[in-house]
Amino acid sequence: MSGADTKGHVLIVEDEKNLARYLQLELENEGFTTDVVYDGPAGLAKAYENVHDLILLDIMLPELSGIEVCRRVREVSQIPIIMITARGEVPDIVTGLDSGANDYVTKPFSIEELFARIRTQLRRKETKGNQDLLIGDLRILPNARRVFKADKEILLTPREFDLLNFLVQHKEQAVSREQILSSVWGFDFMGNTNVVDVYIRYLRNKMEDGSSIKLIHTVRGIGYTLRE
Ligand code: CA
Repeated sequence: MSGADTKGHVLIVEDEKNLARYLQLELENEGFTTDVVYDGPAGLAKAYENVHDLILLDIMLPELSGIEVCRRVREVSQIPIIMITARGEVPDIVTGLDSGANDYVTKPFSIEELFARIRTQLRRKETKGNQDLLIGDLRILPNARRVFKADKEILLTPREFDLLNFLVQHKEQAVSREQILSSVWGFDFMGNTNVVDVYIRYLRNKMEDGSSIKLIHTVRGIGYTLRE
C-alpha cells in the first residue's frame, strides 16, 4: 500500500502477533498505512524497500535483533525508527539509541503515547533543512548527513551528526547538557548527562585535528556552545 495519501506509511516489526495486530489496527484507524513483519530478517528486507516513513521496531526479535536491524538500516537510511522495548531492558535501550534509533516506548505503552512519538518523528523529518551550512572550515549537508572539512569528508556516526547539527542550529547560544539530551536523543534520557560529554569529545576529536579552528566551546556550569 502506498503512503502517499495517508498520514504516513509505517513498518511494524514485532514478533508478538497480538501486539503487532493491535498496532496495525490502531495505526490504520488513525489514518496510517502499515506493513507488518514478525522477525528481524523480514524487517530488514522490508526496510530496504525504502518506501516507509517510519519504523516501529521491537528489540527482542527472532533471528536478528532489533538492535542489529536498526544498525543495518542506518547504514543506508535516515528513516525515523522508534524502538519497542520490554520493561527493564535499559541496557538494550541505550544500545538501541546508540545504533541509531530516534526514540523508544516501553511495553506496556498507551497508544496515545505512541502516536505522539510518531507525530514528533514525522514532523522532524519534514522540517529537516535542505541547505548546505557553512561554519568555520566545515561544510555540512543536512539532508545527506555529511560533513566536509576543506574538501575532506569527516565520517560521523548518526548520533555524532545529530549532535553537531543541533549545535549548528543553536550557533552562538549556550546549550545545556539536558537540552542536548532531550533534542538529540529525542526524549528525556534516563541516564547520565555524561553521555553528552563523551559525544562532544568524539566530535572534537574528529573535527578539530591539529591545526584547525576550534568550534565547540565548553560553557562552564552549563554545557556547550558552537561559535566560529
Ligand atoms: Ca519481541
